Amino acid sequence: MTSSKEYTVVNVAINRPLFREFAYKVNAQLGPSHIGSRVTVNFANQEMVGIITEINPKLEFDENKLKTAILLDEKSFLTDDVLKTLFFGSSYYHYPLGQCFNVALPKILRDGGPFDYEVIPALELKENIDEALISKIRSKEQLNILELLKDGPIRRSQLRERGFLSSQENALIKKGLVSIVNLKIENLPFTHLKDDILKETPPEPNIEQHNAIVAVTECEGFKTFLLNGITGSGKTEVYLRIIENVLKKGKAVLILVPEIALTPQTFDRFYRRFKVPVSSMHSALSDRERLDAYLDMAKGRSGILIGTRTALFTPISNLGLIVIDEEHDSSFKQNDTFRYHARTLAITRAKINNCPIVLGSATPSLESFYNVRRGLFEKLDLKIRAGGARLPDFELIDLTKEPLTDGFKTGISETLEKEIGEETVKGNQVLLFLNRRGYSHHLVCHMCGHVFVCPHCDNLLTVHKKEQVLSCHVCENSIRIPNTCPQCGSDCLVEHGFGTEQVSEFLKLRYPDVGVERIDRDCVTTKSALEQKISRIRKGESQIMLGTQMLAKGHDFPDVTLVGIIDIDSGLFSDDFRALENTAQLLTQVAGRSGRGFKRGRVIIQTHHKDNLLLNKLIDPNFSYLDVASDLLETRKKMMLPPYSNQAFLLCNSSDRNRAHNFLLNLSYKIGAIKDNYANLAISPVLSDKMEKVQNRYHFNMLVSAVRRETLKAFLMDVRAMVAMDSLPQDVRFAIEVDPINMY
Ligand code: ADP
Ligand code: ZN
Ligand code: ZN
Repeated sequence: MTSSKEYTVVNVAINRPLFREFAYKVNAQLGPSHIGSRVTVNFANQEMVGIITEINPKLEFDENKLKTAILLDEKSFLTDDVLKTLFFGSSYYHYPLGQCFNVALPKILRDGGPFDYEVIPALELKENIDEALISKIRSKEQLNILELLKDGPIRRSQLRERGFLSSQENALIKKGLVSIVNLKIENLPFTHLKDDILKETPPEPNIEQHNAIVAVTECEGFKTFLLNGITGSGKTEVYLRIIENVLKKGKAVLILVPEIALTPQTFDRFYRRFKVPVSSMHSALSDRERLDAYLDMAKGRSGILIGTRTALFTPISNLGLIVIDEEHDSSFKQNDTFRYHARTLAITRAKINNCPIVLGSATPSLESFYNVRRGLFEKLDLKIRAGGARLPDFELIDLTKEPLTDGFKTGISETLEKEIGEETVKGNQVLLFLNRRGYSHHLVCHMCGHVFVCPHCDNLLTVHKKEQVLSCHVCENSIRIPNTCPQCGSDCLVEHGFGTEQVSEFLKLRYPDVGVERIDRDCVTTKSALEQKISRIRKGESQIMLGTQMLAKGHDFPDVTLVGIIDIDSGLFSDDFRALENTAQLLTQVAGRSGRGFKRGRVIIQTHHKDNLLLNKLIDPNFSYLDVASDLLETRKKMMLPPYSNQAFLLCNSSDRNRAHNFLLNLSYKIGAIKDNYANLAISPVLSDKMEKVQNRYHFNMLVSAVRRETLKAFLMDVRAMVAMDSLPQDVRFAIEVDPINMY
């Protein structure tokens, strides 16, 4: 019947906060291959790009009234698995499908741009170049670029990822040694390389690595593996081997990494190992570069995609494996718009694809650990360090016994001070960890007690000495450090607490000859700044490094023999039930930075609570991270906290405090009427967020916990129906967050 018509009726998902799709006519004969194709539609008098989600849907009205949509893609570029993952994600996270697509598509496609390359600028070695010219080059980086180009042209964006600067590239262009070419021309699928995919000979795997490689390689269909390997145990080497085996079958691989791990070293290991083209997707790319990587994968030109969480939604022809490195990392969770967890959706995608997925970590999340216990995941262990390096020894410094020296006031106790001195004299390196930026934590008026709070947020302002500002670490606004108190006029303003800026100032004064590198977001604003610091450390020009999270993962420092944890206590006492898990992970990860080379490493932890049970387990060589995780799981079980229950937040904010508050109160009345329909469901009263005011908006929440996932889902469907998303009161924002990892 439909074939006789000149048009096809389709359902279209639109980027609006609406939990439904809209029917349009398209003047062509469309079939299932068009599900996922983009169309332009007129929606509420606006031209918009939408996605076809259904062909010939059931209509409840006369189709002659339908408006016409214009087809943009002759065939859907979204593969079946990406579509199904998004359908699932929309329903699991209660986020409108059209808006999910909006998060999943690269901007150029979202805006209706063509699904095709333009120009891909790359560098190519010129033919018959004068060797004399090369011998004159002093810059090691320029020589390195020339060396790499011997294997063929390389994209400029890829050279940037590997740590080279465009100025170095330009110098070579100017010298006439290389030229810019357009890489679009050679557009072969990676499979033409067949079995010849390796560039280097990999090390022989040890027995544990071998077992892990075999388990995953022999897995024919879907299965989730948790590769639990201590830091430095050779997890990456295992990924590389498994990937190799998948590539040999002509299939492609998706690797998700935390944003922080996107260092030239990460990319280099893959580029160095494989002849197969590798693409990458991360926040440093332009919209065009992002689309190019997307096209590389969709068209089968690249065999490997390395990316941060959104890379998950890239269509990949013939996907054979997904890897998530550092699966416990919180950057896999998106905390606004489409509030998904990349691990959850990656597992879904692997299942749809019927391929294995490997979650790797030295410190697995309790969720994954629980799934191993439930028999849903298979755990593979790497318990020894590859290359023979040993795990460090731990020691506690009891701060209650330390004298109040100048160093103590800036975070370095006398004992730690001495240890740093001894190690550096021996020519060794020291890594100090403090997860707090700035000079002083906050500023107080000594006369009247006035504290300096962000004018836009309920947050204390941090003192930054060098810039002479008080800065809000929530909204990033800052004001000049005042000379007097705005409340009483006194000039007696006292600083409290220390941050990395102050500690590094102390270290530079105390150890003037050894070089101190501070690594945090304030002094490392570009990738190359970070690289320069790291390179000074690698070369041994600097012996002390002090840093925040930025330093905790992704980098290997073989000469570090001492790791100092300046402040652990703030992570031991928190009202967030995940704090202990996060502290255990962080401590284990930071400790893993040391003793990677031939030298034995030590980790020294400063604390006022030397009898703390968790702390003592973490440093006991007879306990592993998993033993600690096991304990933490027991507590969660007793308290019926996730993963033993399922949580969701109902979140609301507005620039008008009452409006936000009333909106949720109102919703809570309505919820009261249906609540008894659900068994084992707990709903908190309407509460302010821990930080109620953020960027001049007032935040309120309700926490929902259910023993069963199905109950939570059904309940949230009801809530969704109660909230007319498209007609919220003016200036009120409402969101549902399923499986939150932050407490509000
Ligand atoms: P992880 O990812 O677990 O931190 P890596 O894969 O980075 O560990 O391995 C740590 C170091 O050991 C790297 O320098 C790596 O090249 C080396 N390595 C890994 N596996 C082997 C092996 N089987 N033989 C020799 N060296 C290895
Ligand atoms: Zn005052
Ligand atoms: Zn602020």
